[in-house]
Amino acid sequence: MTLGFAEIALPVPMRGHFDYQLPEGLQPQTGARVLVPFGRRQMVGIVIRCKSHSNMPADKLRAVEQLLDDEPVVSPRFLDWLNWASQYYQHPIGDILSTALPVNLRKGLAQGAPQKAWQLTDSGQQYDPQDLKRAAKQQALLMALQSGPQLHQFLSEQYSAAIFRSLEEKGLIETTHLAVEADLNWPQRINLAEHPRPNLEQSLAISAIAHQNHSFRCFLLEGVTGSGKTEVYLQAIEPLLRQGKQVLILVPEIGLTPQTVRRFQLRFGLDVGILHSGLTDNERMQVWRQARSGELGIIIGTRSAIFTPMKNPGMLIVDEEHDGSYKQQDGWRYHARDMAVVRARLENIPLLLGSATPSLESLNNALTDKYQHLLLRKRAGQAKPVQHQLLDLKGQQLEYGLALGMRQRIQAHLQQGNQVMLFINRRGYAPALICHQCGFVEECRRCDRSYTLHRGMNKLQCHHCGDAKHIPHRCQQCGASSMQPVGLGTEQLEQGIASLFPGYPAARIDSDSARGKQKLHQLLEEINQGNYQLLIGTQILAKGHHFPNVSLVVILDVDGALFSADYRAAEKLAQLITQVAGRAGRAHIQGELWLQTHHPSHPLLQDLLNNGYQHFARLALKERRFAALPPFSYQALFRAESNHAAQAHDFLLQVRQLLNTGPDMAAIGPIPALMEKRQGRYRMQLLLQSNQRTGIQQQLNRLMAHIEKLPLANKVRWSLDMDPQDF
Ligand code: ADP
Ligand code: ZN
Repeated sequence: MTLGFAEIALPVPMRGHFDYQLPEGLQPQTGARVLVPFGRRQMVGIVIRCKSHSNMPADKLRAVEQLLDDEPVVSPRFLDWLNWASQYYQHPIGDILSTALPVNLRKGLAQGAPQKAWQLTDSGQQYDPQDLKRAAKQQALLMALQSGPQLHQFLSEQYSAAIFRSLEEKGLIETTHLAVEADLNWPQRINLAEHPRPNLEQSLAISAIAHQNHSFRCFLLEGVTGSGKTEVYLQAIEPLLRQGKQVLILVPEIGLTPQTVRRFQLRFGLDVGILHSGLTDNERMQVWRQARSGELGIIIGTRSAIFTPMKNPGMLIVDEEHDGSYKQQDGWRYHARDMAVVRARLENIPLLLGSATPSLESLNNALTDKYQHLLLRKRAGQAKPVQHQLLDLKGQQLEYGLALGMRQRIQAHLQQGNQVMLFINRRGYAPALICHQCGFVEECRRCDRSYTLHRGMNKLQCHHCGDAKHIPHRCQQCGASSMQPVGLGTEQLEQGIASLFPGYPAARIDSDSARGKQKLHQLLEEINQGNYQLLIGTQILAKGHHFPNVSLVVILDVDGALFSADYRAAEKLAQLITQVAGRAGRAHIQGELWLQTHHPSHPLLQDLLNNGYQHFARLALKERRFAALPPFSYQALFRAESNHAAQAHDFLLQVRQLLNTGPDMAAIGPIPALMEKRQGRYRMQLLLQSNQRTGIQQQLNRLMAHIEKLPLANKVRWSLDMDPQDF
């Protein structure tokens, strides 16, 4: 039976699919791309299904213009996965599909990359190669092509460009294109490099995974930094790779972990597909194609790499699964780790989550046996655990944020020839510029936040909207010329320690100094070569990179996070402290971590320092349970912003009135966001919380269509964030 209609997903902010007529003889497969008219434009859409009739009146239906793919760009299973996401995140499938597909495919470009090849022309076929006796190479090439076209890539190993040119000029050969067969023989080429013997805990983890590596299972590998988690990944995937199964590994930041990528390459001697935001569209397309055809055994990438298709999937790994970068913060706000759980289930393969500081969500799943919990308690090899200490800031004379005792310790470590890492979570020179006469603060008018002073750029910059302006010499309010920086940022600290510790070269690592992947890479290399003894940086330093010669880590100020309105602040601080500490003393040096605080007896700090992250996290889970906060309840956050505060507020109030709140479902708001004004728009929010995930889902399923019809829905900018991480 021919089906005359198709449901098409289009990249538009509207829910649901769109019906189109199929021209005579066109029967596209589900998941194939088509060109369709939409309004006055032409769009690339994805066929969701073909059907024999449509409920749309015939005169409203337009026709599919062109089929772009013989082979679908998304498999039915992949489509199931994305449809699940569309439902769960209450986000239009068209937009989800365009997030999940490489730009080239969204633009309608071809999936395959037929490669350049050579063939005989008509006269080349008539030609007798004997006539080319005096040009032996040309003769050989002509004879080689008599059996049919061949790829330029292979021919060019034997024949120079001049040979091709001569024959082409004689009209005997011409270029053409050939589709290339995927090379699936890589499992035979695995060349295992030397590697350490796993210790007992690693062996237990590896064999637990090996036992379950043929079907769906989630593992949480909780191992202190340097305990050999990566080694477990490497050994766990080996048997899968040997069977030709592919492995997809997510990491938070590739620029910071070039060593990890190299370890995978070197261990197996295989090409590794790498996906990160620095790639061109064509490079990205190439990895996508090779992963889908099964040519790549290992693919490593950041958040959006979760959408890489695999012909023969074997395992998913999410490294540093607690990392905030896995959550997309605009548009479709998916969480790559959560997407990985569902993908692994649909593909029926194991998922390995690894972290030294697991998120409370994953930890709870492990403690309740939803995930299998694998523990590595000790550092691998020779590395010793880091010693943690608190320094009470009360009443101290600070120089550049450092207490006297701290300055002396730093000096001592430097004199021993070790590296010292100073951690401060604020880039720029100073977080504000204030008038010493009248107290006026230079504030971004669009965000109601003070401008950060950047001496390097010689500008004031708003860290919330990016707005920059020149540094004023006079106060706008009183006219006095006494504008002064207040507070401490990385730039100022860098300057300060040059005067406090003269003769010890310092490197600053933050998103200003390390702009661009190359720059960062180079800086990290130079640090590990010992060109710098003092390292100053922001949370970039906490992510993955190893600094074997660092013996002392100082966190200048932890107090901000101790008294935050965000209930996740404690968890994030504990993760940060533990991760920063874990970067130090990896080799043979005893590492030391110092925290400066005005609140040394704060229970969170005490617990973390005395008992470690594992203990802290279990205690934090108890608190969350007591307060009925995630993961013991489920949240969805409506955000609305508008140039008029009242409109954002009224819209959310109307949303709230549509809800059926009750004992199972609480609504909080509308209230102003923590940052009430940003880029000139007022921001409000409405939080839904329920002790049952299905409770929220059912309400939203019913609500979304109504919400979209609210008159204010088109006047304010609004979004829904499932499982919000930031408020
Ligand atoms: P993690 O991923 O937990 O930070 P890694 O796998 O990177 O830990 O291991 C940390 C260091 O210890 C690496 O240099 C690694 O080669 C080494 N290592 C890992 N496992 C062992 C082992 N069983 N014996 C000796 N060294 C090991
Ligand atoms: Zn601003």
